[in-house]
Amino acid sequence: MANRKGPANVNVIFPMPRGGPYTYLAPEGHQQPLLPGIRVVAPFGRRILTGIVVEANVTPPEGIRLKRLQVIIDDYPLVPQELLDLARWISRYYFCDFGEAIRAVVPGIFMRVGDRSIRLVEGIKPAGLKLSALQGKIFDTLLAEGQLLQSRLTKRLKSKSLSQPLASLAEMGLIEITDHLPLLPRARLRTMVEARKEPPDDELKVLLASAPRQRECLEFLQGMAGPVELSLLTRINFSCAIVGALAKKGLINKYQVHDPRDPFRHVKFPGYQAPEPSPDQKEVIANLKESLDSHKVFLLHGVTGSGKTLVYIELLRPVLEAGKQAIILVPEIALTSQTTGRFRAVFGPRVAVLHSGLSDGERYDIWQQISQGKYSIAVGARSAVFAPFNNLGIIIIDEEHEHTYKEAEYIPRYHAREVAIWRMSQAGRAVILGSATPSLESYHRAREGNYLLLELPERAQGLPMPQVNIFDLRKGWSKKKPPLVGERLFKEIDFALQAKGQVLLLLNRRGFHTFMICEECGQVAECRHCRISLTLHRRLNRLLCHYCGAQEPIPSVCPACGSKRLVPMGVGTEQVESILKEKFPDRVIDRMDLDTTGGKWSHHEILEHLRSGATDILVGTQMIAKGLDFPNVLLVGVVNADTAMNLPDFRATERTFGLLAQVAGRTGRGERGGEVIIQTFRPSHPAITAAVTHDYPSFAKEELAIRREAEYPPFVNLLNVIFTGRDEKVLASFADKTAEKLSKNKSLAGQLTVLGPAPCPLEKLRGRYRYHLIVKSKSDEAIGHAGAFLARSVKPPSKGNCRMILDRDPSSLM
Ligand code: ADP
Ligand code: ZN
Ligand code: ZN
Repeated sequence: MANRKGPANVNVIFPMPRGGPYTYLAPEGHQQPLLPGIRVVAPFGRRILTGIVVEANVTPPEGIRLKRLQVIIDDYPLVPQELLDLARWISRYYFCDFGEAIRAVVPGIFMRVGDRSIRLVEGIKPAGLKLSALQGKIFDTLLAEGQLLQSRLTKRLKSKSLSQPLASLAEMGLIEITDHLPLLPRARLRTMVEARKEPPDDELKVLLASAPRQRECLEFLQGMAGPVELSLLTRINFSCAIVGALAKKGLINKYQVHDPRDPFRHVKFPGYQAPEPSPDQKEVIANLKESLDSHKVFLLHGVTGSGKTLVYIELLRPVLEAGKQAIILVPEIALTSQTTGRFRAVFGPRVAVLHSGLSDGERYDIWQQISQGKYSIAVGARSAVFAPFNNLGIIIIDEEHEHTYKEAEYIPRYHAREVAIWRMSQAGRAVILGSATPSLESYHRAREGNYLLLELPERAQGLPMPQVNIFDLRKGWSKKKPPLVGERLFKEIDFALQAKGQVLLLLNRRGFHTFMICEECGQVAECRHCRISLTLHRRLNRLLCHYCGAQEPIPSVCPACGSKRLVPMGVGTEQVESILKEKFPDRVIDRMDLDTTGGKWSHHEILEHLRSGATDILVGTQMIAKGLDFPNVLLVGVVNADTAMNLPDFRATERTFGLLAQVAGRTGRGERGGEVIIQTFRPSHPAITAAVTHDYPSFAKEELAIRREAEYPPFVNLLNVIFTGRDEKVLASFADKTAEKLSKNKSLAGQLTVLGPAPCPLEKLRGRYRYHLIVKSKSDEAIGHAGAFLARSVKPPSKGNCRMILDRDPSSLM
C-alpha cells in the first residue's frame, strides 16, 4: 500500500550477492521524494549497510514488518536510472545477482558499510554474571579502551564474528551498542584569504604600526587581484597567526571553498595542437557524424599511425556542442597517457580521467562531479564504461581488441564492449570501436553487416609502414644455444643509436630468466599454490610467482631428486636489459614492466624520459606496445615472438599477431622512417608472416577459417564454467555432477556442445584447484539459458570451499 503523505516504501539494493532489492519504510518524518539512484543507510540483519534506492512507491509484500531506513545520504540521484537498468541487464547477461552487478557499477567508496560503536555501561561490574571466555575478553578490552568500533574490536581479538557474544552482553546490560554511520570521505576544503575592499581607517593603520608583519601581509593581499590560498601565504612566511590576527581585526576575509580533488592538476601533459584532418580522415569523420544520433556500432579499422585519435577528437566536438557527454575507453590509462593528454589538451578541464591509481577520495570526487554534470568527457579503462553521465552521446573504445576490456577476476566477468553496446542501444546513440588489429569477433560482425566497417588504410601524413624483418633464431646458435639478442639485432640497434634515434625492445616476460630447471630430472621449480613455474628475479635474488606473488629463496638442490644441477632457463626483460648494458655501456637503457612500474606515476615518468630523448633504449613487456607515438623511435626489436604463440588457448595466434602488429606500429612515425626486427623460431607461422606484410585482412581470413573449422568464436558462443576448490577430489566430482545436470536438461537438448569437465590449463592457482566445462552453442540464447539454469540450480559443496564461476564470452580459456 503506497503511503499518500510523504515518501512511501522504497526498494533498496545492497552491493553484494543476495543483496536484494528489499523493501524499507522511509525515515520518520522524511518528506522529500526518494528517487531511484539515491543512497541510503539501512539496517540489514545484524549490520547497517549502504544501499541504493532502485524503486520508489512500492507496495510491500503482505504480512511483513518493514524496517525503516536510517539515513538518506544523497539529495539527488547519484546513480542515474540508466546505470541501474544497465546493472539489471548485466545481472541477466552475466548470470549474477543484481547486487553483484551494482557492486561492479558503483565504485566501492560510495558503498562503505556501516560500523557499530561498542561501549561499557558506566559503573557496571560483571560480578555474579557468567561470561564465556570470549565475552570476558571483550569486557576486559573495553575496560581498558572505554569505547571501540566493532570492526576494531574484531581485529583486536582476532575473532571471526563478535555479533553473537556482543548481542548477549548487551542483553545482560553490560554494554551499549550504537550504530556508527558509514565512513565517507570528507569533501576537501581550501582556505582562501582576501583583503577587504574598504581601505583601513587611520586608527587601524596606527594599530598595524606596532605589528609590521601584519601590515606587510595586508599590503601583500591588497596588491593581489583576488583571493589567494592560505597555503600560499604560509609558504611566503606569513604565518597562520598573522593571518588570524588580521581576520580578527576585520581587515581580511577568510573563508573555505570546496576543492574537488583533481589528481591530474600537477601532471604536465605534453602540448598538442590538433592538426587539420586528412582527406581520408575527413571522409570517415563525415560518415560517422551522420549517424551519431542513432544506435549503430562502427568498427574503425585504421592501421597504426593512421590518426584514429584525431578522428575521435573531431567526433567529440559535435557531441559536446549538442550538450551531450562522451566516454572514451582506453586499455589502461597509465599506458596511454599520451592519448589521454591529447583529449585534455583539446577539451581542457571538461575531461575527467578515471585512473586505476586514484585514491578513494579522488575517485569519489570525480565520480560525484560526473553525476552532477561537471564533466563532459570521461577517459578511463574498463570500468569507466559505468561513468554516471545522464545524457551520453557516444562511447568510443580505443584498441578495442585488448583483452583488458574483459573483467577476468571478479564477478560479473563483463566485457566493456558488450556493456557499452547495450548501454548505447538504450540511449539510441553510437558506439565506435577503433583498432589497427580488431578482435576477430568485431571484424567478423562488421563483415556480416552487424557493425559498420570504416577503414583508414594508410598512415596520416602519408608515411610508409615500417619495414619488418625476420631473424630466424634457429640459425644463429652459438655454444649450443640460441642467442638472446642475435647479431642482426645488435647491428641494427647500433645503427639506430648512431643515427641518434631511439630503440624499443619487446620481450613479453619480465624477470631475469624464466625458470629454474633441474638438468638431472627435468623438474621445474613451481609455485606451491599455483602449479606455475616460478620466475627468477636477480635483483631480489628470489623466485617469484607471477600469478599469486609468492616469493621463495632460490633452491640449491632440486626438490624432486636432490641433484645440484639446477640451471636457469629462458629469458626475461631484466636479463635483456643487462646484456644491453654490457654491449652499450654509454647508453641510457630503461626498462618498463610490472617490476619497474609500481609507483602511481612511474609509467608516466618512464615515458616522459623516452619522449624527452633522455632514454636511448627502452626494454619492456607488452606495456610498450600500446599507443605510443614517438617519431624518434627508429627501431623496434622483438626479442622473442614465440612466447605467446604456444599457449594452449584458442586466442594465442590472434594475440601474437596483435602484439607484433601493435609494437611494430610504434616505429616509422617520423620523417626518418623506422624498422622492425622480429626474432623467432617459427618464421613461417601465420601470425609472423602477416605481421611482416602488415596484412590484417589476410591474417583475419586465415585465422577465421581455422576458428570456423574448430568451432570457436566468433562462429559459436562460449560459456566457460569454472570450478575451483581446495579439495581436488570433491571438486572433480562437483564438476562431473554439474556436467551431468546440464546434459539432463531437456529444454537445452541438442543445442549445446559440452566439453569436459577437465582440469584448466592453469590447474591450480593460489592454493585452489581448477576444473572447467566448456559450453559451446551457435545460439546465444541457448548459452543464456544454460548459464541461467546453472546459476539457479547448482549449489557448490561447502567441503573444500568449492565455487562455480560462469564466464560468458571468455577472453581466454586458461
Ligand atoms: P593511431 O592511434 O591511429 O595509431 P595516432 O592518432 O597516434 O594514430 O596518430 C599518429 C600520428 O599522426 C600522430 O602524431 C598524429 O598527431 C599524426 N596525425 C594524425 N592525423 C594527422 C593529420 N591529419 N595531419 C597531420 N598529422 C596527423
Ligand atoms: Zn631434479
Ligand atoms: Zn603462485
